[in-house]
Amino acid sequence: MTDISKLKTRHKVIIMGSGPAGLTAALYTARANLEPIIFEGLEAGGQLTLTTDVENYPGFPDGVMGPDLMNAMRAQAVKFGAVSIMEEITSVDLTVRPFKVLAGDKELEADTFIIASGASAKMLGIDSEKELLGYGVSTCATCDGFFFKDKELIVVGGGDSAVEEGIFLTKFASKVNLVHRRDELRASKILQDRAFANEKMNFIWDSAVDEVLGDKEGGVSGVKLKNLKTGEITEKEAQGVFVAIGHNPNTTLFKEQLDMDDVGYLITKAGSTETNVPGVFAAGDVQDNKYRQAITAAGTGCMAALDAEKFLEEHGE
Ligand code: NAP
Repeated sequence: MTDISKLKTRHKVIIMGSGPAGLTAALYTARANLEPIIFEGLEAGGQLTLTTDVENYPGFPDGVMGPDLMNAMRAQAVKFGAVSIMEEITSVDLTVRPFKVLAGDKELEADTFIIASGASAKMLGIDSEKELLGYGVSTCATCDGFFFKDKELIVVGGGDSAVEEGIFLTKFASKVNLVHRRDELRASKILQDRAFANEKMNFIWDSAVDEVLGDKEGGVSGVKLKNLKTGEITEKEAQGVFVAIGHNPNTTLFKEQLDMDDVGYLITKAGSTETNVPGVFAAGDVQDNKYRQAITAAGTGCMAALDAEKFLEEHGE
């Protein structure tokens, strides 16, 4: 890690974010001798640092711990010349090139800017959920469902994600209890029909998870549920809790500067990582509301690096 005060002002590539997308972009641009600067941000290593075992990242037949995988990705990028800065970018000006990037009181200039600032899963905001995240509480059914064979699970939410993840989890779980704060789902009709027809799905309406029970050693043992109409608190046994109440893309800095969809995900051109501003590229979950996997993020990180390299060549920089 390098002290930001030691950096020169102008850089060929500045990368915002240090999840699989940002670190893969760093690895590729470093190997192309572009000396990228990675701003790691508040959640250094990204969402994988909030998980334990990762079994679906290719190349690890015995699985790998999320934080270990991210440390290895960072070490690999730094080995080839990427510079890691443990700071948050606080503002950017993308209206003129070189782009202006402000972190703390240091202003840098970037010929190309790769945004890999990710998306953060929305959380319920209760202490026990935070404490047991990665120990039975998860925000990713695709990643963690496999660990819950024949177990009873809770899924929180009533949108497409919650219902789709609930149905997916019935492949492993003995029973999936979908806890929703209202008495009707927001999810699309087709998903609702599928969920209602699934014998392993159970619906708990008008309810919120008040507390997740368990500890780090034994994992989750159940939840305290609050009926929002009557106020009644009940306990329900379960070995896993999947929070699926949506994601927030980390794009606040780019409002009014870059094209984004209604929710705030950056829009990239089809088959590319180019945004509407030439020289600014977006990779990973910040531009992907659909797949949201570490391997797809890494893939688009590689694309962003190649796109940036080509841009620099074409602009003689
Ligand atoms: P979403 O549509 O915003 O739904 C979020 C759900 O979580 C809602 O049911 C909401 O309840 C609930 N919720 C929000 N905050 C909560 C809180 N603090 N406590 C408890 N419950 C809370 O999010 P999403 O399901 O992630 O979907 C995001 C977008 O991706 C949508 O456009 C969706 O259509 C799309 N998507 C599509 C598919 C598919 O087509 N197969 C799959 C996944 C996602 P209320 O209903 O009461 O607001």
